[in-house]
This record gives sequence, structure tokens and C-alpha cells, in this order.
Amino acid sequence: MSLKISGLSKMYGDHPALWKVSAEIEDGEFVCILGPSGCGKTTLLRLVGGFEQPTEGFIYAGDVLYSSQEECIPVERRDLGMVFQSFALWPNMTVRQHAEFPLRQKKYARMDAAEKQKLIDRTLESVGLAALSGRYPDELSGGQKQRVALARAIITKPKILLMDEPLSALDAELKISMRKEIQDIHRMTGATILYVTHDQSEALAMADRIMILKDGEVEQIGTPKEIYLHPRTPFAATFVGKYNLFRGTWDSDRFYEESSRVCFPGQTVGPELKKLGLYPVRPDQLQIEKQGNGIPGKIRNRQYCGREIHYSVESAGNLITVYAPIQTSYDLNESVVLIKKEEIG
Ligand code: ATP
Repeated sequence: MSLKISGLSKMYGDHPALWKVSAEIEDGEFVCILGPSGCGKTTLLRLVGGFEQPTEGFIYAGDVLYSSQEECIPVERRDLGMVFQSFALWPNMTVRQHAEFPLRQKKYARMDAAEKQKLIDRTLESVGLAALSGRYPDELSGGQKQRVALARAIITKPKILLMDEPLSALDAELKISMRKEIQDIHRMTGATILYVTHDQSEALAMADRIMILKDGEVEQIGTPKEIYLHPRTPFAATFVGKYNLFRGTWDSDRFYEESSRVCFPGQTVGPELKKLGLYPVRPDQLQIEKQGNGIPGKIRNRQYCGREIHYSVESAGNLITVYAPIQTSYDLNESVVLIKKEEIG
């Protein structure tokens, strides 16, 4: 189901938790809402879920007005399933009882008991829990608990799935495998997914589109590739792509770095960064040399990371991050120059 969010604001007293957020989300799209703590991600999800009413603006699901200042369709009448960071499981219910729970709603009263059992079997199978259906939550691992929450959310085949940091309580390795499972569930259900995270790699890996929020406002909406390769604002650049931002002056599409006057081509840099006199360069787009026509700096830190070495280079009072091949070997306090590699793609 498509979602249309228009001019959506939510005030708590004088504080705007969300401010004039607009987005059109297509039927079956997987959209990650990405941003740091307190930027309004959960507030947006709660508004779509019907747990909060907007101060301004509206939300349409398909042609149905879900929320406005005057209207707020109750949660149970919205066609959605929810998965939370804390799993929200009941200690006294088995895996099977959790999956069965949503089928106790009035609208399933006429569903045949055998049909219900089949639906539960199929759902538990789809999340890999068929063999654990008699277990209680305290007999499950973190990943298994999150699968129970997923089964409960998808059993009624909702058209919209809301997920609030569903993987943040899991360890790093499990997170990566659960990402794949959530992508499988997206493909299997065809549901529109709104997925809250503060983890940029999670958003880049899973989303069809990413909405970056900062202080309750939308910074940028775009595909992972658009946001990674062409961030529009300093925040989008540093938060998602870990870009370094060089200061300098723009002359049309040419950028002159302020301390060295080294010139970079900038046809693809957006107008907002140009207006601020900034030039974004990712750590992997820089190369360190002992000398040459580059931006001078001094090595201040190095971290061996297996596939590459991460250097911090101090230049004109700023720390620039460079990801360099493991064959490089620069010493602390060594004077170097930074050169931008040729653009690829
Ligand atoms: P996190 O990643 O830490 O969960 P978030 O991006 O989800 O953060 P929200 O929970 O949406 O952020 O909160 C946005 C802002 O609104 C915060 O400043 C928060 O303190 C405030 N806020 C949220 N709920 C309420 C409330 N019920 N009453 C007052 N302020 C609130």
C-alpha cells in the first residue's frame, strides 16, 4: 500500500519532534528512516502507526486518510504490522501462541480453526521457527526472539510493516544475517516497509530509499546510491558516507581548497554544499603521498583494519580521514600530502 505523508509536524509543548515532513512512499517500497538519536524517527513511525496524532499535516494510506489534526484512525483499523527493538514478547506465551495472537482479533472470528493452524504453520516455517513452536521466550536466543516478533507482525499479511530498530539488540554477526531475513520477508510479503535505524550501513544495505532526518526535518530522501554518492547537505555527507568536508571557494564547477589552493573538479557536487563553500570527499577517495601537488598535512593516527589502514591526517586544523591500502606505511607526525583519486562512477 502506498503512503503519502504531507507537511507532517508533531509538537511536544514548544518542541517540534517532527517538522513539516513530506514523502510519497510507493506500494511495496522499503524505506529506511535514518538519523541520530532524538531526530524524530520513532515519532514518525508512531504517527504512521496511529499511536500519536499529528499537530499539522496528514498521512494517507492508499486513498484512506489515516491521520490529520482532526482525524486519527485507531491502530487496530490500520492495515499494519509492527516490530520493535525490544521484541515485546510475552513471557508466558509460546512461539506458536505469539504467532496466533493477531488471529484472535474479531475480523478472524469466522476463519476456520484448521485454516488458522495452517496459516500459523506456514508463517512459523517462513521465519525458520517451525521446530521451536513450543518454546517460551526465555528459551530463545535474541535472533529467534526477533523472528517470533516478525512472525507475529506478518501473520495477518499487513500491507504496511513498521519496524523500529528491530536489529539493534542483536550482536554484529547476527545483525547481518537477520538483515537478509528481513529482506526475504519483504520480498515474500510485498509489504511497504518503514524501517527505523540509526545505523547507516543497515540503511544502505537494505533500503530501496533512505529518508535522512535531522532535528525533526528531512535532510534528504533518495536511493542508497544517490545518498552515498551525491549527498546534498553536510549532515547527509558526514552521517552516511563519512565524507570529509574541505573548506574553500567555488568558481562555477571548480573548487579551490582554502589552505593549499589545490583545485578539485566538482560537477556533481550539489548547490547546498557549494553555497556553504564545502567540498565533500570520502575517505576512500583520497590518497596519501609523501610529496606532490596535494593538500599538506601530518599523520596524527593510524588504525590497522585488516583490508585497509585508516589514517587521520591533520590539515589546516582539521582531521581528515583516509582509507589507504595496507601496503602503505606512514608514521605518526610524518608530513604528507593528500591527493584526490580520479572519480569512478
Ligand atoms: P532514538 O534513536 O533515540 O530512539 P528518535 O530519532 O526515535 O530517537 P524520537 O523518539 O522520535 O527520536 O524523539 C524525537 C524528539 O521528541 C526527542 O527530542 C524526544 O525527546 C521528543 N519526544 C518524543 N516523545 C516525546 C513525548 N512523549 N513527550 C515529550 N517529548 C517527546
